[in-house]
Amino acid sequence: MPEEKAKRKKIKATGQMQKIMADYFYELNDAAKSGDKKIAWCTSVGPAEILRGMGFLVHFPENHGAMLGATRMATDLIPHANALGYSPDICSYLTADVGAYVKGITPLSKAYEGIESPPKPDVLVYNTNQCRDVKDWFAWYAREFNVPLVGIESYVGVGDVTQKHIISIAKQMEMLIPRLEEVAGRKFDIDELKEVLALSRECSELWKKVLDTASAVPAPLTFFDGTIHMGPAVVLRGTRQPIDYYKLLLAELEERIANKEAALEEERFRIYWDGMPVWGRLSNHAKLFSGLGTNVLASTYCSSWVFSAFDEADPFNSMARAYTELFIVRSDKAKEAYIKDKLEFFKVDGIIYHDAKTCPNNSNCRYGMPQRLEKITGIPSLTINGDLNDMRLVSDEQTKTNVEAFIEQLEEKK
Ligand code: SF4
Repeated sequence: MPEEKAKRKKIKATGQMQKIMADYFYELNDAAKSGDKKIAWCTSVGPAEILRGMGFLVHFPENHGAMLGATRMATDLIPHANALGYSPDICSYLTADVGAYVKGITPLSKAYEGIESPPKPDVLVYNTNQCRDVKDWFAWYAREFNVPLVGIESYVGVGDVTQKHIISIAKQMEMLIPRLEEVAGRKFDIDELKEVLALSRECSELWKKVLDTASAVPAPLTFFDGTIHMGPAVVLRGTRQPIDYYKLLLAELEERIANKEAALEEERFRIYWDGMPVWGRLSNHAKLFSGLGTNVLASTYCSSWVFSAFDEADPFNSMARAYTELFIVRSDKAKEAYIKDKLEFFKVDGIIYHDAKTCPNNSNCRYGMPQRLEKITGIPSLTINGDLNDMRLVSDEQTKTNVEAFIEQLEEKK
């Protein structure tokens, strides 16, 4: 294959994204050292808006887990958490992150000079909407740092989101506040929350527009770009920085669309990715697919930070809805309807399901979903076995052979 066929077009805005991510990590690091701002650790789809609205700086351990994966540090660290009784079969974000803490190392040190460790928390806040692992993960740190652990016990397998769900989750969110006030040493102010929520909603709308540009033919964006550029939406939602950034990124992608510029040299096939990324193989996978003239252009994963229901006029109920409407929280029936819409919207030829060994919560191929969806849509799929962080569970040869055979199958269908 010609070398250039394997190339992805570089996104010009990337430098700006790296700058705001660096500012974010340095701000947390400075606060941890000076103690002048309180630090909350929050699960990635937890109630970050409440925390920001109360003046906390927010660290997301899953983001740190993904960095451990992307830098390929995770695999060697996982056994240190296993030695503490945390099974190799559970979330490899958890085991890599705890392993890194035990060993006293972090990818932040390599990326940002002067940062020696993730910022120590004053409080840990979870939401089990994604899985139980996050609660166990935070509980470990609560014991380690002797700081409060608070959270929301969510529903799972939700079909239609009803008042029953909204009332319970909104109430649990409100009940976090007295404990958070104690830690913050200040009163909660509903107007500050509304302000943060409005910013978070704007960020979410812009991030969705960024992802939706991939519906253009040819697509100006790949899933692999999305996994990198989602950083600001994950860690800085509720502030101005991601809004400014996504306006810049969106303008660049819209310009690509106007000029019919594709993200890849060649786009013969359009693929939807379901499940976790394989962080330690992002660039290998990007090259594998682009080398086959195939753009993996949309995913369930990157859309996990789209919170369309946020409404500052009704903060708690709308947050409860947004954090319950998420794909990962839903029943298979709701998930199938969601994916079916996305397949049409993004004009998809095939689906890749990533069966991540240590994340059953975000592996959607274990109970017949690929077969049911293919029956309804006629769109074929391939399941690849692997993991988000534990590269011992990834077989590169097998993935390559299977993906090549799958693309051949799509070729024959054309
Ligand atoms: S959803 Fe999966 S990857 Fe994310 S924290 Fe839970 S088990 Fe880990």
